[in-house]
Formats: sequence, C-alpha cells, structure tokens
Amino acid sequence: MNVEEILKKLVSFSVLGGDSNSSIANWIETYLTDHGIDFKKVPNEDGSKRSIHCRIGPAVDGGIILSGHMDVVPVEGQDWTTDPFILTDIGDDKLYARGSCDMKGFIACCLAKLPSMTKANLKKPIYFAFSYDEEIGCLAGPALAADINSYYTEKPKYALIGEPSMMQPITGQKGICVYETTLNGSAGHSSRIKSEISAIHEAAKLIVWLDKKMDSLIQDGDVDHRFNPGHTTIHCGTMQQSGIAPNVISDSATFQWDVRVIPKNKAIEILADFEAYCEEVMLSNVQKFPDFKITTTQSHNDVPPLDCPDSADIVPFICSLLDNHKTETVAYAAEAGQFAEAGFQTMICGPGDIAQAHRANEFVAKSQLIACTEMLNNLVEKFSELT
Ligand SMILES: [Zn+2]
Repeated sequence: MNVEEILKKLVSFSVLGGDSNSSIANWIETYLTDHGIDFKKVPNEDGSKRSIHCRIGPAVDGGIILSGHMDVVPVEGQDWTTDPFILTDIGDDKLYARGSCDMKGFIACCLAKLPSMTKANLKKPIYFAFSYDEEIGCLAGPALAADINSYYTEKPKYALIGEPSMMQPITGQKGICVYETTLNGSAGHSSRIKSEISAIHEAAKLIVWLDKKMDSLIQDGDVDHRFNPGHTTIHCGTMQQSGIAPNVISDSATFQWDVRVIPKNKAIEILADFEAYCEEVMLSNVQKFPDFKITTTQSHNDVPPLDCPDSADIVPFICSLLDNHKTETVAYAAEAGQFAEAGFQTMICGPGDIAQAHRANEFVAKSQLIACTEMLNNLVEKFSELT
C-alpha cells in the first residue's frame, strides 16, 4: 500500500481523543503482522485503549523512535465541505480529512516505508511508537516511552515526533498545564455586596492576579526568543456556573486556565505562587464567610516542554536527513518533551502545517507527504550505510 492508500484507511477511523482506539490500533497491528513485525501493546487501565510500539532492524543500542498519535480532535460545529472521515482529493494537490495533517499523514508515511525498512540491511533499529489520547492532554506519552525503555534490553537513542512542522526540524516546544479553579462564596441580595463574598468578584481578582503574574515573569527576564511568543503565557479560557441573576450575589464560580511554559519556567512553580495568593484571599475572607473556599485542580498531566540543545547529536542527524540546518521551535504542546524526559534525544518533524490542524477542511499537501517519505528514505539509507 502506498502512503495515500494507508492514509485513506487511517482517517476512516474516527477515533477522537478520549475514545477507545481499538479500531485503528487493530488495523495497524494487522498491517505490522502482515509485514512480519512483532509489536507490543501498551494498554490503559481498563484495556479500552492502547499504544503500540515495535522495532524494525537489529537488537542493538541506538536507533530512532518514530512516534505519532492515533487520535484526532472532534469535527462538531465545524463547516466541512467534504466528509471529514473520507480522504478527499479534489485535484488541488491537497488531501482533505480530519487527521490528514495532525497527524495520520506522518503515521501513513512510516507505515508505507515499512516494507523497505524490513528489506534494508539496517545497522541501527527503527522503532514505531503510536499513542492515543494525545489530543486531550498527551495522556499516553509517558507510559509509552517508559514501556519502550523497559521492554527492550537495548536502548533507542533518538525520538522523532512527527507533529506537523512543514517538515522543518524543531528542537523546542512549549509545555502546557491546564487548571480549574472553583470558588465557594455566599449568596445574597446584590445590595449586600460589602457584607457577603461574591464568588465572581473574588474569581475576577484571581484572574487579574494570573494576568499580572504573566507580566511579572516577562519583566523578570523569563524570555526565550526561540519561541513565539517568547514567554510563558497564562490564560483564562472559560468561566462557568457563575451566578444566576444580576441582582443576586454569586455563591460559586469556576474558571479554567492554562499555562504554556517556555523551558525555563515550570507550571508547578506558577501554581504554587497562585495557591499562596489564594491562601491569602481565603484568610481575608473567612472572617466574613467561614465556608469561603478556593480549590484548584489540575485538568490533566503536566505536559513538559521540549528543549533539545543544538549540541545534541540528534540535531545534525535529523538536519542532515532534511538537508536543512535551520532549527525552529513550535508553540503547540506535543509528546516530544515526554520522550525527552524518558531519556531519548528528541525532536519534532512532520508533514503538514499546524495552521491546518484542528479546523474544518484540514488537509495535508501531497508535496509534504513526499518530503516526509524522502526524509524516511534518507533515514533508512543512513542506517544501512553505518558500519
Ligand atoms: Zn498532533
């Protein structure tokens, strides 16, 4: 099967982040088996989802992990002009479908290259590592990377995450953490605002604090010009269950916020500062209303940033495969930082433009799939030439 035929099959599985991914995993596993490749499943707790990894080539140290996620984001409310789960070629050199760009195009390129990988005389192994639930917080990345470390006696050296980068070599990615903060205030007639505690008013103060915290990090010099924007962002994106009428003091408020960190900042430290401030706010309000409370919960794993130094061996290696020595960074979150934390030198490079991801009429340009296939050809050639 060629890249397009495989991509057509992969996009037909409408597995969203959070869904069971058995359908797409089964298909990939059958494909691997048909090509004589053993694979390892890394299931979640109840067995409804699984990551897959496998090794092609010799059982020796070194080699590279090629990784992608099997899940996609929803299409609800988006104005698609084609069926999002049917790969559509309208003759404009683009292939339209949900996941065509993010990131089944990369997986399709890897799988299409498998027959020649198995025939090549590889001196270093190539691993495939495919995850689930990436789109809802990179939930499966750490367990997948850890399983690769424990399952094989020999250790892979590099990991390449094929997120859409227009085939540019990427050495940095911001980390992300998402939080939900809930306030419990006292209800009452709005004329009594000075005697009660409005959850909305207190929430507003906390959100202003977060905004000022972002500014103070920048003023303190926590900037990294490899990124755009070159600083950590803190942003409140939802405000829910807050209030019932303009003349009623709200007794509850909930807001969700995210922190996207540059490598020199840590979300956990920003959270600690925030919680210290919440403690002060609570102390000053419990006199008036003993049940006043602020609680903050983390919505998913802390997704670490990627900060691959230019001095790492992987940088010239990947750049040589692309014949492009200008590395860049991305602002989106990915599993790359998680693979780096597991001990692999990690970069991001994949077909398609992140600007086309997550939106209606997502597409990947055919020329991008060709460029990705060329990179993989060069990889196989390089691993075959080693002595
Ligand atoms: Zn992705």
